Amino acid sequence: MSPWHKNLLMTNHVDLHTHSTASDGSYRPAEVVHLAKDAGLRAMALTDHDTTDGLAEALAAGAELGVEVIPGVEISTRHVGDSMHILGYFLDFHSGKLAERLAVLKQARKDRNPKIIAKLNALGLAITMEQVERISGGGQVGRPHIARVLLERGYVRTMQQAFDIYLKNGGKAYVAKFRFPPAEALEMIREAGGVPVLAHPFTLGLGSLGALRDLLRDLQALGLAGIETFYAEHTPEQEALYLKLAQELGLLVTGGSDFHGDNKPEVTLGNIRSRNRLTYDLVTALKAWRKKEYGLV
Ligand SMILES: [Zn+2]
Ligand SMILES: [Zn+2]
Repeated sequence: MSPWHKNLLMTNHVDLHTHSTASDGSYRPAEVVHLAKDAGLRAMALTDHDTTDGLAEALAAGAELGVEVIPGVEISTRHVGDSMHILGYFLDFHSGKLAERLAVLKQARKDRNPKIIAKLNALGLAITMEQVERISGGGQVGRPHIARVLLERGYVRTMQQAFDIYLKNGGKAYVAKFRFPPAEALEMIREAGGVPVLAHPFTLGLGSLGALRDLLRDLQALGLAGIETFYAEHTPEQEALYLKLAQELGLLVTGGSDFHGDNKPEVTLGNIRSRNRLTYDLVTALKAWRKKEYGLV
């Protein structure tokens, strides 16, 4: 293929929210980068839940394929009984402190799955940890994998049903997850030279604009840099609202698909409703923030 033809395929699009088998996605980190290449993306961030284990592989694949891979993470934090996800971009993932904190989360997660399976067994659903590990493909094991086993064994008809009946908060086999408070996640991302961004704000279930504004102000005082504005499940109204709040408070805006591969088949890489706005200028702004804040390039 001529270089000219290659240029035609390359777009200015980016996807700043993706998952691999290092957490609960169904594709290996290098495979996600290959898919990004196929989708013509100029840059993508790998943002696995609570782990940086997939980043080295993704960065190597990115260098080989000419896709800019941004080392990221998505940390689950505690927020009034539910969870608040905080994304981190441009991490120095070799940072000892970050690794130490992520190891705490890894151990907590390890302890959690057997507890969920014990509850399912007590309910008469005969699944084992080995079956769940097999389906995870060697990465992080979590509820989507348990749901897949329940589906394959015929205990539920859909993944959604597995969550609704058993696995979601309030479900019959739910086990609460250990989480850091948001302040700690912001600190660990910043310590590693990263840019912390509040993920998919609509999941916080905040009823009013005022409540979200107050929350953002609090998080900003703790070091938050941005808000994930463009997201597959945001309505145009939500998107407009987050954009307005970001402008008002001086926060960066980011966006991504939250790609999980076959574990979230309705979402495709690089594809959100307002995809024409997911362009490289989001990355440029992240870099500029980082340079201004830490003096890093
Ligand atoms: Zn999330
Ligand atoms: Zn995510």
